[in-house]
Amino acid sequence: MSAARTLRLYNTLSRTKEDFVPIDPSRVRMYVCGPTVYDLAHIGNARPVIVFDVLNRLLRHVYGRDNVIYVRNITDVDDKINARAAERGVPIRELTEETNAIFQADVRALGCLDPDVQPRATEHIAAMIAIIEKLIAAGNAYASQGHVLFSVPSMADYGQLSRRSLDEMVAGARVDVAPYKRGDMDFVLWKPSKDEEPGWDSPWGRGRPGWHIECSAMSWKHLGETFDIHGGGIDLVFPHHENEIAQSRCAFGHNVMANVWMHNGFLQVEGEKMSKSLGNFRTIREVLGDWQGEVARLTMLKTHYRQPIDWTTASLRDSKKELDRWYSVASQFASTEDMLSPEFEAALSDDLNTPEAITHLRRLYTEANEGVAYAGARLAASGKMLGLFQHDLAAWNGWRPASAGIDELAVHRLIKARIEARNEKNWAESDRIRDELVGMGIQIMDAKDSVTGELSTNWQVKR
Ligand code: AMP
Ligand code: ZN
Repeated sequence: MSAARTLRLYNTLSRTKEDFVPIDPSRVRMYVCGPTVYDLAHIGNARPVIVFDVLNRLLRHVYGRDNVIYVRNITDVDDKINARAAERGVPIRELTEETNAIFQADVRALGCLDPDVQPRATEHIAAMIAIIEKLIAAGNAYASQGHVLFSVPSMADYGQLSRRSLDEMVAGARVDVAPYKRGDMDFVLWKPSKDEEPGWDSPWGRGRPGWHIECSAMSWKHLGETFDIHGGGIDLVFPHHENEIAQSRCAFGHNVMANVWMHNGFLQVEGEKMSKSLGNFRTIREVLGDWQGEVARLTMLKTHYRQPIDWTTASLRDSKKELDRWYSVASQFASTEDMLSPEFEAALSDDLNTPEAITHLRRLYTEANEGVAYAGARLAASGKMLGLFQHDLAAWNGWRPASAGIDELAVHRLIKARIEARNEKNWAESDRIRDELVGMGIQIMDAKDSVTGELSTNWQVKR
């Protein structure tokens, strides 16, 4: 490990910045709550993805590429998913597959590395049932009318993460009073499914998991009973993360679930809360149609991750100008990680102070133009640590905004239909679909186990 410098991270649990000390420096473990795949992800959802991608890159740099394991789950069972699939008249699996494929393409276009593992909730039902059984056996949960609930009063120190008063918690959890609940704060671990709803057999009948238990199960399976870092947006502190902690600690009997809890602040658009009714709702797709992924990325990182961010066109425009200038210099240098600017690295190691790190990129750019030795190589190396400079200069300069109005879901469906036609050796249909896609401006490329469509951003559909 090349930990010349101590990494300091703000821990929501202690409300202080702490020296980061991994449980096992040869296996640094991070879990981040991922998307619920029922609709296109919006630019607010991109914030945790980008922030924790930068942390993943930094951890890999400090502890070694193979000594970090980053897990980001896919929530593919949820009542919002059921409702949307019914609304659109498509099978649930089709909706979640499509939405996830688009999410993956979007976040790659934002320059994010794939996490090491992306577990799906529907593939971890047995682990969820196992945890629920442990909780019942320990007296922390009870079955009632086909439901299983976590008994909040059974845990003496419930509420350590959010530090809320009971009244605030009741309000924050939008508590439903229900006949099957013993206490107001008790939350659902398992609930019964009607015939038309997705469900799995369990000791409590056919049903499906609550949201919180999903992350306790997936983090346990892939990272163990306790691990180093757990992340997500600030809105997840309560009730989601508080309840994950309750479940995992009570099931496994440890004082902590994760040592460090990190939360990004919220994103608003041009000074207002992003919402469909205000007309300022932006999907990642829409942003990527207008701007290169790295422009969106730099814009996101100019604000410290714990601060609220105001997403504006002016800020995107500034980022584009800066990146155009930096690319012209950075692209001239081959760089390696040991060429990082020490000041840049110090800023990043101080609770991911990306705004300060970016100030150092600006200084390096100026110095490179003044002929200061190493400044260009340091700019290239440091920018790469933030996930910038992933393209060559020609590709960067050749980028053009995509023509608006492409229906991404329709494209995805056509690609799927074409795969099916090819599997059935229906070449005429396969060619017809290819021509339809070409007509929409999408070029198809077949590979052994996937099909890629080139647009402004890359698509990939697994066979
Ligand atoms: P969701 O699909 O709503 O569960 O959100 C996925 C992730 O995006 C979670 O980590 C949320 O905290 C985060 N998130 C949602 N909306 C915003 C926003 N406006 N700004 C920043 N993060 C957000
Ligand atoms: Zn979660």
